[in-house]
Amino acid sequence: MRAVVTGGAGFLGSHLCDRLIRDGHDVVCLDNLITGNPDNVSHLMDKKFMFFNYDVTNYLFIDGKVDLVLHFASPASPIDYINYPIQTLKVGSLGTHKALGLARAKGAKFILASTSEVYGDPLEHPQKETYWGNVNPIGPRGVYDEAKRFAEAMTMAYHRSHGLDTRVVRIFNTYGPRMRVNDGRVVPAFCSQALLGEPITVFGDGSQTRCFTFVDDLVDGIIKLLEADYHDPVNIGNPREMSMLEYARLIINITGSKSEIIYSDIPVDDPKKRMPDISVAKKVLGWQPRTSVEEGMKKTLPFFEETLRKQGRL
Ligand code: NAD
Ligand code: UDP
Repeated sequence: MRAVVTGGAGFLGSHLCDRLIRDGHDVVCLDNLITGNPDNVSHLMDKKFMFFNYDVTNYLFIDGKVDLVLHFASPASPIDYINYPIQTLKVGSLGTHKALGLARAKGAKFILASTSEVYGDPLEHPQKETYWGNVNPIGPRGVYDEAKRFAEAMTMAYHRSHGLDTRVVRIFNTYGPRMRVNDGRVVPAFCSQALLGEPITVFGDGSQTRCFTFVDDLVDGIIKLLEADYHDPVNIGNPREMSMLEYARLIINITGSKSEIIYSDIPVDDPKKRMPDISVAKKVLGWQPRTSVEEGMKKTLPFFEETLRKQGRL
């Protein structure tokens, strides 16, 4: 197959490119590097891999056949989408429209990287795919949440109106090598603080919960979803729920760090709880995560360590 990956030089996109190349496919990666890094895919340049520095909110033209479009372009960390609010809205709306248009023109299968953020600050717990969410459209996170909700609506409209072969994956907090140490997300933040012996910055009282999925498990789930004949959204995430305070203590334990925990204000609209109900993924895809949080963090920490060394901070 020949696949187009938008956002392919980002964290998740680059792991998907790796997997597609390993499975024997040709990959065309489109990324404007707003939050991505060409180093994430530089090792693929001598393979059946093409990279274009391109903003996918513009018209997409790809020469030759395309069998699969994976639309992963979008700033994804709260700091990134708050720094780039208009770009986030544009890539979720215009970018999704262009990526769907490309898939339609080529008769390709399409998958949208959606998010647990479509559930907002959820009033249902754990979150099933049938839950419609509790999103503040005009809050700072609204630029991301509403863009992804629009992207889901657009994807379903292309499926229903044009018969496009679409998938929607609702990704819950995923971590692993190639996350930027300073992207502001809790995993790189706590891991780098612990490695540097700096204070661990817990927002609020740390009682808010998240569930963390290791990137290889997510990629397996996405490949299984692509192979399944299922068009409604599917949650992919590790249902082990933990508070941010528990997570801070876990990282201190694993690293043996002497960092203290400090508390600061919780960001506006920060969801109080989040946990996927993965019964659809289990039943339809036969998928469930295989990597425990402890195991996954141990596989990820060396990457942060190496990055901090390269930056001369360790
Ligand atoms: P990332 O920032 O590492 O990757 C996003 C990539 O998209 C970057 O390389 C960026 O340069 C590129 N991009 C952004 N706007 C673009 C545009 N207009 N044109 C071309 N490229 C553009 O983030 P990530 O964590 O890898 O997230 C990838 C996708 O997965 C996003 O769509 C995100 O919403 C979704 N997602 C991620 C998570 C997670 O936990 N990592 C959770 C839910 C959803
Ligand atoms: N968080 C924290 N300290 C940090 C960064 C994040 O306590 O230095 C909290 C944040 O308030 C949220 C959780 O960790 O409750 C997860 O944040 P992240 O930015 O990783 O992703 P989110 O799930 O909020 O999109």
